[in-house]
Parts: sequence; structure tokens; C-alpha cells
Amino acid sequence: MRLLSAVIGMVVLAWGWGMWANGAGGGSTPWVIYEQALLLSGLLSIALMSVAMVLATRPVLLERPLGGMDRIYRVHKWSGMLAVGFAALHWLIEMSDDLVKSLAGRAGRLHEIEFSGLIENLRDAGEEVGEFAIYLVLAMLVLSLWRRFPYRWWRPLHKAMPALYLLLAFHAAVLAPLGYWRQPVGWVLALLLASGTTAAFLSLAGRIGRDNRAGGVVESISTPAPDVTEVVCRLEHGWPGHRAGQFAFVSFDRFEGAHPFTIASADHGDRRLSFLIKGLGDYTRGLSRRISKGQAVTVEGPYGCFDLDRGDGNARQIWIAGGIGVTPFMAWLDRLRSDPVRAPAARLHYCTRNAAADPLIERLASMCVDLPSISLQVHDASQGEYLSAEQIISADEGNDRAEIWFCGPRGLGESLRSRLGALLGSRLRFHQEAFELR
Ligand SMILES: Cc1cc2nc3c(=O)[nH]c(=O)nc-3n(C[C@H](O)[C@H](O)[C@H](O)COP(=O)(O)OP(=O)(O)OC[C@H]3O[C@@H](n4cnc5c(N)ncnc54)[C@H](O)[C@@H]3O)c2cc1C
Repeated sequence: MRLLSAVIGMVVLAWGWGMWANGAGGGSTPWVIYEQALLLSGLLSIALMSVAMVLATRPVLLERPLGGMDRIYRVHKWSGMLAVGFAALHWLIEMSDDLVKSLAGRAGRLHEIEFSGLIENLRDAGEEVGEFAIYLVLAMLVLSLWRRFPYRWWRPLHKAMPALYLLLAFHAAVLAPLGYWRQPVGWVLALLLASGTTAAFLSLAGRIGRDNRAGGVVESISTPAPDVTEVVCRLEHGWPGHRAGQFAFVSFDRFEGAHPFTIASADHGDRRLSFLIKGLGDYTRGLSRRISKGQAVTVEGPYGCFDLDRGDGNARQIWIAGGIGVTPFMAWLDRLRSDPVRAPAARLHYCTRNAAADPLIERLASMCVDLPSISLQVHDASQGEYLSAEQIISADEGNDRAEIWFCGPRGLGESLRSRLGALLGSRLRFHQEAFELR
């Protein structure tokens, strides 16, 4: 969230500079406060919306600084939500002019520049489209927060956001005070509007991720457990290869679109990727019946920074997998098996609902046989074995630094992170792969 704080800080500074340079403009204090609050809320809203638009283009270059594409999506989400919050505030302030009038009277109102002709028409249009777009983005925020609203309906609606952004960008560009364009606040606004508008057009043209896509075929399909489908795909030459732990957007069906799945195998240079897909929703449930051997598949990626090479070689390695969150660790083990001397000393905690019915345990155990420095510890919820921060620490005694790699349910990850943080303080480094992008 440092990026969002930096953007907010930059906008506030630029706005403050503009206010100081322009003076009060001859108005009384309530009207100056009204005007400046209206400008600041509008600036913050369009700035954060522009950031959300840029992040939606899946910018690979920002993966490293922001910690991976799953993180980029989280920042995108928070940026969008804050932007809509500021837009709502902007609208409320705009609606409160009657209240200011009744409190301070009309006399102290700031002198408005009179426009005519095309500029006047553009400003009128800007006001109208802005109001219309604000109602729609507010509705979108409600649907995003309403977790029970099905993802498959939310997604096409969300695709309308670039069009709404363009309306709001137009509103901001034509209604920003003319003096702004000669000051830092205008330059910041211009930069944000130019980046956001470019991103919106790329999105509307279907260009997002297009250069990172490779076609291929489904080579095999199996169901290691009733609710898990394993799919092996063989890609064409355009695939650049991947690092163990990365994910890709996989599309088996053009109408369904792409879903993110971790690549559960290492890169063996044969452009073969395996995915372990759990039936967690409408599409993935019963996936094995929807797809067939030999059919076409499109894979976009690879994305993500859940990469062991980014780890701290001197810290204790503790890997925690919850359910299907074991997939990146399977890719790591697969990679380390071909180079066991590079395997760090690590403990892999695997949390499962029912060990007796879980075929992945046997697979993990057999992978670990070749890797003596890695010890597997299974936590079987059906036997009341729930993993706690205290267990993690007592399993690996020592006062040195601990590096945790977590992939699994968000609630488990957050509770472990906060408890371990309290116990280990600055000696803890916690990496978490987000399995949810919405
Ligand atoms: C980085 C990452 C890696 C993942 N790796 C795996 C994996 O290795 N194995 C596995 O079983 N699952 C994995 N998932 C989860 C998987 O993407 C969802 O379970 C799947 O997309 C659900 O689709 P659905 O239509 O069946 O469910 P729905 O009920 O439609 O959706 C359930 C939730 O899944 C997410 N989701 C659904 N469709 C999409 C989409 N097109 N794009 C983004 N998110 C979507 C949303 O958060 C949604 O709320 C991963 C998710 C992420 C973000």
C-alpha cells in the first residue's frame, strides 16, 4: 500500500501548492473550504482511479517492486475502492452547496470564470457525464463488496470500468481549474490522466496480456481426488518458460475466459505445464467433464513472485500450504528434485481437511524422499490437528530469522502472520500468495 500512500501524498502536496499559489480567490472561508474540498476529493478520486486502471493492465515491470501480480491485483482493488470512496465524497460535497449557501450566504462565493462557446458546452457535458458515471461506479463498488454476487456476473460488469474511467477522466480534464495546467497539480493530473486513458484504451481493445499468451493443447486430464482435476498442457514455442511458484491465466473455453492457476510443475524446458485445480466454484467444479484431451488451451503468463530464489538464504525456511495452496510448493519440490544440493533446510507444513482421503500427501512424501533437507509435516483437521504459530516456532527452535512462505486460505494466512509477527517481531519475513484477485 506504499504506492497508494505515495500517490495520495503527491496529489495532496501538488493541490496544497496550487492553493497556496492561487490564494483564496476572494471568497469567504466556508466557500473556500467548500471549493478546495471539492477539488481535493475529485483529484484524489481520479488519481487513484488512474492508478487502478494502469495496474489492471498486468504490468510485468511492476511485479518485482510491488511483490508479484497477485499483489498488484490487491493494490488495484484497494486503489479502485478508495477512488470510489473519494468520488462519493466529491459528489456529497458538490450536493452540499445549498447548505453552504444557507450558512454563509451567496455573497462570499468564489468568483467563477465565465466560459462561452465550445468550452462552456464541454464543461456542461463534463458535469453531466461525471454525475452519471459516479452513480455507476458506486453501484460497482456495492457489487464488489457484496461477496455473494457471483464472480461470473461481476466480471463482465467490471469490464465496463475502463469506459466509465474515460467518462470520469473527461469530467476531470474539462472541469479542473484552468490555472492548474500551469502548476504542478495540473502536470500531475495530466500524467495520471494520460496513463489511465492509455490503460483504458488498451483494456477496451482487448490488448491486456495479449503479448504474454501462448496456445497449446491439453495433453492429459486426471482426477487425483473427486474435487481436484489435474491437467497437463503442452504449449507452443511462444511460451517463455516459468520460475517454480509462478501462476498463469488459463483459458480452456473462450466464452468462460481465463482463470488464474499456479503452475504445479517446474520448468523442464519442454513447455509442459501441469495444473492442480480444485472445484472451488461454478466453473472449476466438474472441470474434468468440461475439458477433453487434445483440446486447445491458451495460457497467459507467467506471473508472480512466489519464488524461492527471492528468499533469504540465512533464514529458517518454513513453508505452509493450506489445501490446494500446496501447488506452488509442488512446483518448488519438482524443481529442487532436479538439483537436490541446492535444496535449503526447510519444513513444509501441509494442512489438509482429511489426510486419509488426500492423495496429495503421498505425492508430497515421495517428492520429499529425494530431498532429505526438507521435512514434511501434515496437519489433519479431521483429527483436530490445526496449525498454530506456536507449533510452527516450537517445531524449529532457534532465535535466528524465520522466513515463512504461505499459500492457502486467506483467513489462516492472516491469523498466522499476525500471531507470528507478535512472537518474532522483526525476525519474521512473511510471503503470502493471494489465491483471490477480487
Ligand atoms: C494467483 C492465483 C493462483 C491460484 N492457483 C490455484 C491453483 O493452483 N489451484 C486451484 O484450484 N485454484 C487456484 N486459484 C484459485 C482459482 O483461480 C479459483 O478457484 C477459480 O478461478 C474459481 O473459478 P470458478 O468460476 O470455479 O469459481 P467462482 O465461484 O466463479 O469464483 C470463486 C472465486 O474465484 C476467483 N475467480 C473466479 N474466476 C476468476 C477469474 N477468471 N480470474 C480471477 N479470479 C477468479 C474469485 O476470487 C472468485 O470470487 C488461484 C487463484 C489465484 C489468484
